Amino acid sequence: STYADDSITSEYTAEEQKLLKENFEQHTFQTEVNKLMNIIINSLYSKKEIFLRELISNASDALDKIRFLALTNPSLLGEGDTAKLEIRIQADPNAKTLTILDKGIGMTKADLIKNLGTIAQSGTKDFIQKLTDSNDPNNTSNLIGQFGVGFYSLFLVADSVVVTSKHNDDDQYIWTSDSHSSFNIAKDPKGNTLGRGTKITLHIKEDSAEFLQESTIKDLIKKYSQFINFPIYLYTSKE
Ligand code: ADP
Ligand code: MG
Repeated sequence: STYADDSITSEYTAEEQKLLKENFEQHTFQTEVNKLMNIIINSLYSKKEIFLRELISNASDALDKIRFLALTNPSLLGEGDTAKLEIRIQADPNAKTLTILDKGIGMTKADLIKNLGTIAQSGTKDFIQKLTDSNDPNNTSNLIGQFGVGFYSLFLVADSVVVTSKHNDDDQYIWTSDSHSSFNIAKDPKGNTLGRGTKITLHIKEDSAEFLQESTIKDLIKKYSQFINFPIYLYTSKE
């Protein structure tokens, strides 16, 4: 797919893009993932903003995990910038990107394929079955309220996404998707730029430009960071 190359144009040199293109491995999403994506898109279009709650909560979970492991093995935290247990959010209205970065546990290549390509929890599978069985829109939103909708809610506001991740046990990898049934994965030609953690770059849809505005994001961070125990920094590029 060519979109993946476009979506990283701003950050990668021609040589690096060529390498990525050659190395991308294509995977298809598990059927349940497609079902979940369709349900999210069809039932949550009026509550798009929840994508930020989901991504902040994933970043916080990832930070909790490395902090917990570091209790018994402090060297796992690394040094300098890598050791900072924080979340950074950056909006770039010119590039039309919103980036959420955490210095959490990160994902290995295998983690990326499993965690972002399949639905492992049987609870979520039951949930999707219930949603598929139910034609009542009220029931749908009740069910969605009971479960977190998770990572894929980003497709409410983004038409493509690039996930860069570095786990202590693997090289840095790039995972990218435009939600059309497949994703690509490759080793990052830039090497280890994150130290440790995960960077999620959303290419924001035309109709969701509000999520590139500093004031909107600031309000949402306030709303969704009440129970987050890590600092969240917001950066915005000038328009
Ligand atoms: P949930 O958080 O309920 O498990 P999600 O759809 O939100 O479901 O995320 C799926 C999985 O992807 C998570 O369980 C986690 O393993 C992985 N994941 C998502 N975001 C991150 C992140 N920022 N850092 C590390 N792992 C992540
Ligand atoms: Mg989650």
